[in-house]
Amino acid sequence: MQQPDVIVREVGLRDGLQSVATFFPTDAKLAWIDAEYDAGVREMQVCSFVPEKVFAQFRDCTEVVAHALKKPGLVVSAYVPNVKGAQRAFEAGVHLLGHVVSASEGHNRSNLKRTAADSIEDFRKIVELRDSRPDWQNVRLGGCVATAFGCTIDGRIDPDNVVRLAEQYVELGVDELMLADTVGFADPAHVKELFTRLKTEFGDISPSAHFHDTRGLGLANVVAALDAGVRRFDSCLAGLGGCPFAPGATGNIVTEDLVFMLEAMGRSTGIDVERLVEVRRIVENELPDEPLHSAIAAAGLPKGFAPSVSVD
Ligand code: ZN
Repeated sequence: MQQPDVIVREVGLRDGLQSVATFFPTDAKLAWIDAEYDAGVREMQVCSFVPEKVFAQFRDCTEVVAHALKKPGLVVSAYVPNVKGAQRAFEAGVHLLGHVVSASEGHNRSNLKRTAADSIEDFRKIVELRDSRPDWQNVRLGGCVATAFGCTIDGRIDPDNVVRLAEQYVELGVDELMLADTVGFADPAHVKELFTRLKTEFGDISPSAHFHDTRGLGLANVVAALDAGVRRFDSCLAGLGGCPFAPGATGNIVTEDLVFMLEAMGRSTGIDVERLVEVRRIVENELPDEPLHSAIAAAGLPKGFAPSVSVD
């Protein structure tokens, strides 16, 4: 299959499920992975290696990762909040570990129970841990600056602070740098400005973007990020979830709407949007009381829509 122009990474099994109190049965998680893989999705963040007593949702992490690793060509990633989580993720065999530091001290403290400096120090230890074992050498480490565009607790975020944290990740050898609008404060002008600045500061690193649709600007922000050269986006099937520390925050941008928009713009994703819409049934069955989003699921594809590829 030809390389897609833009990579869409499904994070519903992590970011979506993390704010859902109901345990999503393991079999249904595996079915979700299978169905999105069959629709053409080739990057998925499948769980979070957090203590079971904090997030019972992820108690089946190892099993979920083991299943995802069986899919040829699927990049399997997991979120890790600290060194302990990273150790478990390395042992489980994930391809990419996602680490987060918040540009807002207030958010970092309530979300991760430590200062931003402590989080960066944790990342340094995670790099050391990876480098200590020959069989972990190929594991990629992702660093995400969260609340990069604003925060419910601290409000406006100084862009210099975002760049400073990104710089610390780069100095420690991060393989993938990401900016996240964790609680939906970003607007397209802000997005374009910050990603353009990142490109100027760290030319060879192509950053990824993680947007929430809290104020309806999620997809507009994607277009602005595309203009600034971003080619990898996180999204969540049905826009499930939010942020447990940001009241009122809705979920990530909707995977099916994102894929539709990119394909309509002539950017190939390798994903079949109609098959993606069908995957929603798995989520609907397990979470009948959760609000599920998607304009394209509600309205259907427009007549004459010509996607770049169709997955058979
Ligand atoms: Zn998020």
